[in-house]
Amino acid sequence: MLPMADDTVSRAEALAKGLKRYRTGKPCKQGHFAERFVINCACCECTADRTDEWIKSNPTAAKVRQDCAKRFRQENPHYQAQWVSKNKEKQRAYARNWYVKDPAKRVEVALSWKRENPEKARTHVRNWIARRKNARGSHSTEEILAILERQNWRCAEPTCGKSLRQRRHIDHVMPLAKGGSNDASNLQALCPTCNCRKSDKTPEEWARTHGRLL
Ligand SMILES: [Zn+2]
Ligand SMILES: [Zn+2]
Repeated sequence: MLPMADDTVSRAEALAKGLKRYRTGKPCKQGHFAERFVINCACCECTADRTDEWIKSNPTAAKVRQDCAKRFRQENPHYQAQWVSKNKEKQRAYARNWYVKDPAKRVEVALSWKRENPEKARTHVRNWIARRKNARGSHSTEEILAILERQNWRCAEPTCGKSLRQRRHIDHVMPLAKGGSNDASNLQALCPTCNCRKSDKTPEEWARTHGRLL
């Protein structure tokens, strides 16, 4: 972290204000421009490093402590909620911190979310692709589920009607490539076969391939 001249708080000031940390603006022996703990003047970053080391070399004891803390949080949800509301910034910094420091955990969390929320993940990807194609509009997972319900979970192509319970594609009725929007009003659910055949045909072109609208 870079030193900032205007946010120094002396230990005495911090004590007077009841803060737990102060900031000298000077580096510690390890060169961290981090906050210091009021209680022992120790550099917060060095302390965090030492804690990480302790956890690595005492995995069993660390697990016991972690489980104990977890149990406490579960048994005292109001305490946790109170802490979060009082320490929003700290909580956010903590979330950012593991997100940056631990790419493996980041991938693991993302994958497990995707496994548990497949429909949401697909909606997310669809909206992302549409945005990249500069298409108008967006839709929610609830809207996709409403479309499926309305179609009775069957392929929207009247000559097909295959069940969509196992596999389905969400199709833009008027293709994005031809100026169609990404709003739910321009979406239908097709079976994979029909969707691949339809590709980016307009509704008229698609109807003609089935001998309609001659
Ligand atoms: Zn330090
Ligand atoms: Zn079909």
